Amino acid sequence: MSDVTLCAICGQVADCAAEYRGEPVCQSCNSRILAYVNRVEARIDRLQNRAERLNKEADADHDRAHNMATAIPWGQPIASNYRRQADINYRERIHKTYERAFQKYKAAAEVNRRAEAAEKNRAISSDDPAAILKLEEKLRLLEQTQTLMRDMNKYIRKNAKKPQQEQIQVLVDTFGISSKRAAELLTPDYLKRVGFADYELTNNNAEIRRLKARIADLKERAKIVSAATETVTEEAHGDITIERDLDENRLRLKFPGKPSKEVIARLKSEGFRWSPSNMAWQRQLNNSAEWAAKRILQFVQDKNS
Ligand SMILES: [Zn+2]
Repeated sequence: MSDVTLCAICGQVADCAAEYRGEPVCQSCNSRILAYVNRVEARIDRLQNRAERLNKEADADHDRAHNMATAIPWGQPIASNYRRQADINYRERIHKTYERAFQKYKAAAEVNRRAEAAEKNRAISSDDPAAILKLEEKLRLLEQTQTLMRDMNKYIRKNAKKPQQEQIQVLVDTFGISSKRAAELLTPDYLKRVGFADYELTNNNAEIRRLKARIADLKERAKIVSAATETVTEEAHGDITIERDLDENRLRLKFPGKPSKEVIARLKSEGFRWSPSNMAWQRQLNNSAEWAAKRILQFVQDKNS
């Protein structure tokens, strides 16, 4: 065995000292991880700035409406003379300005909510180059849980005849759970069963299998990305271009102009979203995206023939 260190993400030689959560990573994966973190932070910044701007605009509208309203003496009825129409219009403008302020406050709150959700988001995105490592950590926890549940069930079955208090104590001592949790486990359910229910073990096992498949998928992709000499490639299909961006993990469709309503509806139903900064319709780059792109191309071709 040589002492070559392999990247924990893509498996190629990790020739730099970079680490992620204590695991060695290669230069290529490391720079992608940093770029991803920057992208996520930039998005949160953008959202926070937009919320701030909307709030300021709402404040300004609110002040304006308030100033307009204070120009009318409190409780003064609508003018009954030749100024009547002007008066009605004025009151209408106040109302509209308040309404605009209100709508902007609402929009700001929504943008704020999205910024907070993005900040707190604990879900592991496939866009994240470190997703493999995070998912492997999660997998280890789930596997430990599975073993623990099985072992506890075995223990509970074997010692069912012992006094309850003694059973609780051993569960606490051996498995490190609280006595409250131990007591719960020893309380029979409506079918007089104790311990972890079958469905708990089955569900956890299903999640383990799902995670393993996702990790295998991501590993395959990480290998391709690290081996790629170009991270953005284009493929022309008539006047439509498929762009695959390995860095941002996006498949993009570029049209010569604005597609027809029908095509746009189809794009949306296939999960594509308009990206103004890329001037393209995009979705996460994976096998489903490849199939979706093929269907779109076919759809457009059928429309044109
Ligand atoms: Zn790597």
